[in-house]
Amino acid sequence: MEELTSFLQRLSQAPGISGHEDSVRAIVSEALEEHVDDIRFDKLGNLIATRNGSESAVMVAAHLDEIGLMVKHVDDKGFIRFVKFGGWFDQTLLNNRVVVHAPRGDVYGVIGSKPPHIMKSEEKKKTVKAEDMFIDVGIQDRQEADALGIRPGTPITLDRSLVTLQGHRVCGKALDDRAGVAMMVEAVRQTAAEVTVYAVGTVQEEVGLKGARTSAFGLDPDAALVSETAVAGDHPGIEEKDAALKLGEGPALTVTDASGRGLIASPSIMRWLEDTARQHDIPYQLEVSSGGTTDATAIHLTRAGVPCGVVSVPTRYLHSGVEVLDLRDLQSGARLMARALEAVGSRVSL
Ligand SMILES: [Zn+2]
Repeated sequence: MEELTSFLQRLSQAPGISGHEDSVRAIVSEALEEHVDDIRFDKLGNLIATRNGSESAVMVAAHLDEIGLMVKHVDDKGFIRFVKFGGWFDQTLLNNRVVVHAPRGDVYGVIGSKPPHIMKSEEKKKTVKAEDMFIDVGIQDRQEADALGIRPGTPITLDRSLVTLQGHRVCGKALDDRAGVAMMVEAVRQTAAEVTVYAVGTVQEEVGLKGARTSAFGLDPDAALVSETAVAGDHPGIEEKDAALKLGEGPALTVTDASGRGLIASPSIMRWLEDTARQHDIPYQLEVSSGGTTDATAIHLTRAGVPCGVVSVPTRYLHSGVEVLDLRDLQSGARLMARALEAVGSRVSL
């Protein structure tokens, strides 16, 4: 568990907004090196690690990118305006500490706001829109920003360390999808699959499932599994009927997401995963969601179609800097994928 925690900590704390996944890719590459036959990066930046095997091939994908921000404009007084990358709830951004990843080195900053002392009572009830927010890095004017290399296009991430909570739980930023990345890496390390396995760290998922589309097209796999996080609803403010996944009750298998507009998992894939879980006594939960989607949406529509499933770690407070999950779910999910890959060829044919 300690080793997994520190691996996830490295992944979570690495900066990697969409299109800027280099640091995360380097960590994954190093972690997989000894367990695969070949690692390459494709033209879009996807990491493709191949574990050679039989003619059939299964793609396992997890996205490397995280939701974040990008410098849009620096004003005369040195305050930074930004655009959002990915699906943020604006309220979670305010008063966060951030890191501006300038080419000449990281610069700390804060998303500032008016203090309550001088707010009118109506103002206190209103939420602040991201477009009205600004980042203060301590500089006085645009020339100082220029000197630091801060300019339109500079990526920004939340400044958050991963911490451990009680009960095998951890809290941090970017667990969507670094938990999925860790689960994929663990699965590849553990499996004795006979089938060829492509472990793919995809880029630009949070801004339109882009890397999944190009990598799946290039690899043309016989089936695919996406390693992700999914909305857990086991806390105040969410009713079970709206989100039934719970922490600590095993990984989630997605039956469908976005009310069928995203992925409808292949029945053969569901059978394969559920049979594997039952056979190895691995707990799991089923997910049917009305919102949100994953790389599987892009992968399953590639070429003539790719049978696809999603294994997810149930996660609370998704798309915030304080995402919470239970490491045992991640471990069970990795074991499930490792054993499922081993079943291809003997019990399961693709
Ligand atoms: Zn995700």
